This record gives sequence, structure tokens and C-alpha cells, in this order.
Amino acid sequence: MLENMNQMLDKAKKNKYCVPQFNINNLEWTRFILEEANKEKSPVILGVSEGAAKYMGGYKLIVSMVKELVSYLNIDVPVALHLDHGSSFEVCKEAIDAGFTSVMIDASKNSLEENIRITKKVVEYASNYNVSVEAEIGHINTDTADEAMYADVNECQIFYKETHINALAPALGSVHGLYKGEPKLDFNRMFEISNLLNIPLVLHGGTGINDELLKKAISCGICKLNINTELQIEWSKNVRKYLNENNDVYDPRKIIKSGELAMKKAIQNKIYVLGSNNRA
Ligand code: 13P
Repeated sequence: MLENMNQMLDKAKKNKYCVPQFNINNLEWTRFILEEANKEKSPVILGVSEGAAKYMGGYKLIVSMVKELVSYLNIDVPVALHLDHGSSFEVCKEAIDAGFTSVMIDASKNSLEENIRITKKVVEYASNYNVSVEAEIGHINTDTADEAMYADVNECQIFYKETHINALAPALGSVHGLYKGEPKLDFNRMFEISNLLNIPLVLHGGTGINDELLKKAISCGICKLNINTELQIEWSKNVRKYLNENNDVYDPRKIIKSGELAMKKAIQNKIYVLGSNNRA
């Protein structure tokens, strides 16, 4: 059964561990992630970007695919199906109507007022369907963490008071994709926001943040970590090697599967670092 993120994140917050969000790109990835999370008894959040949703055939198809896989594979850990970086109320509504159990509305490129207005609308709609809502303050860049993009503590407080979201992703120096240079996470600000708001915080850009920094982030209030690029790198590295070594293979099932072990290893490793194993 799919569920929203609330219970899994509340438990993580109380017990100081972190639930992974792994982004899915196709049926096989969904299967690998579900199988590994189930094996490690870890709650898991399946993240779907708007681009990935278009690629896979839309939100309804994804909901059916995930539900069927959960049932077919006898997955019995908590699973949330979450829209990653929904860019508008309409997109969030589409995912909710299709059966997603959680959405992120990312209106962070707007003014605070506009971000609040759009996020409030999503929260209102989502609450009718028991769907959890994550939102962003500041702006999480690609490649470099620009100082001006960090979330403002005051704005986070106002934002939460006005919207009552279930989880907040404040931009605190992490970036999507590969880092140019070192991640510059602002742990003091992370701790301050977590204490003031007392809601689960989300760290985006999980790729390239080392284990020590991740553990520190968890101690400062991070309860959900988003990971995408790292799995893509692990998978493609191994598929490339397999193809180079097996010139005569053309069965797509064999080709896609050749990245399975490496991907599962990376998933397992992340689950151990986040401490979400044996928490289901
Ligand atoms: P990475 O691709 O850097 O792991 O970030 C994923 C992410 O934050 C998705 O929202």
C-alpha cells in the first residue's frame, strides 16, 4: 500500500534518522529501488520529476505501475509516491488526481508572497486527499551553491506559519547533480530552522555529499534526502562496461539489468548511512 510521507518522516524526526527519496526513471529502476528498500526494511520515497513523468507516460501510468509492482513483489515497507519539484498548482493537482500520495510544490523562484500563495493552494487541495506537501525556500541550484540562494530563516518561519506544509526543503548549500567544488552546507542555519519550525527538513542534491556530512545534516534536522544522479552514474557506469565486454548482447532486459547490482549496492549504502534500515 502506498502512503503519504507524514508518518515515515515524523518517525525519522523523532528517532534521528533519514528517509531516502530515490528518483525513478522507468519500470526497472522502480523495481530495483523497491526490492532493495524491502530487503533492508527501509521506508522509501519514490521521487518523480515532471520530466520523468512525461518520459514514462504520465502520472496515471506511474501510479498503476508502482501499485502493481508493490503488490507483485510483495513489498511490505512504507512506500510514498512523490512528485519532485512540481512547478505549478496544476501539475501538483494532476499528480494528486492520478493517485500520487505526496507532492513537492516548488514555487521558490517567485517572491515569498507568491511562493506562499501557490503553496497554500496546493496544501488546501492536497489535504482533501491525505496527500503530504513539501515546498522549497531559497533556491537549490545546479552545480554551484550561490550564497544569495540560501534560505532565509525568517522567511522559513513566515512561510511555515502561512502554509502549514508537511516538510520543508530550505536551500542550504546543496546542489542538484555533480558539484563544482565542495558542498558548502550551512549546518547552523539548518539546525536553527529545524528548531524553530519543528517540522521534517529535506535535503536535495544528495549526490556528492559525503557520509560524514550527511550524518551531521541528520543531527541538524534533515529527515529526507533526495538522491538521483548517484544512481544514474552507478547504473550507467556498469551498463557501459557490460556493453563493452559483451559485443554480441542485444536483449534490452540483459542490458538494463546489468546495472542492477551496482545500483542496489548504492541504494543499500545510502540506506545504511541514513540509518533507515530496519525502520519499517
Ligand atoms: P541529485 O541528483 O544531486 O542526487 O539530487 C536529487 C534531487 O535533489 C532531486 O530533487
